[in-house]
Amino acid sequence: MNVEDSTAIASRLCAACGMCCDGTMFQIVRMQPGDSAAELGRLGLKIRCRDGEFFMEQPCSALKEMKCTIYEKRPTRCRLFHCQQLRRVETGDATESEATAMIVETRELVECVRGLIEQSGLREDGQALPERFERVMATPVDVKLEPEMAAVREDLGNAMQKLRMRINREFRPPPGAE
Ligand code: SF4
Ligand code: SF4
Repeated sequence: MNVEDSTAIASRLCAACGMCCDGTMFQIVRMQPGDSAAELGRLGLKIRCRDGEFFMEQPCSALKEMKCTIYEKRPTRCRLFHCQQLRRVETGDATESEATAMIVETRELVECVRGLIEQSGLREDGQALPERFERVMATPVDVKLEPEMAAVREDLGNAMQKLRMRINREFRPPPGAE
């Protein structure tokens, strides 16, 4: 596959997905040498500093309607990141339609987790999905006093486990491959 074809396919797949930018897969993106935290902050990214290390928080504020609005100026890690679905299509191990189907199915799982978090009483608050999940799960529920809430909690735990396994198996690059 030539570079032009693979860039066009990646652009279509990412426009249907957004999971590496919207707080589903990551909570933070670390700044790398060559990234200007000050400039990226001026572009609206949520830049933070801890122990002298700069990073940006997700969900990324540059993601609008599944598109990166600062594409030409995005941080280094965003430039280098290729999820497994993109890699498989590039190497011919998956077709674009197979990757699209995987993205659609996984996004459904994300929506299921989001719905169960809302049912658990935590409204959308602009935080990354894993963080919202942990906050819900940290609040104890008494099965005898709140059996319906306990059932929602169990469904949420199962859905999040399924989502994590899916992301690790199908999207996250193997260690050292980024
Ligand atoms: S996870 Fe992959 S397909 Fe989805 S937006 Fe990120 S790079 Fe694109
Ligand atoms: S800067 Fe662009 S590519 Fe990077 S996380 Fe934000 S939306 Fe995604």
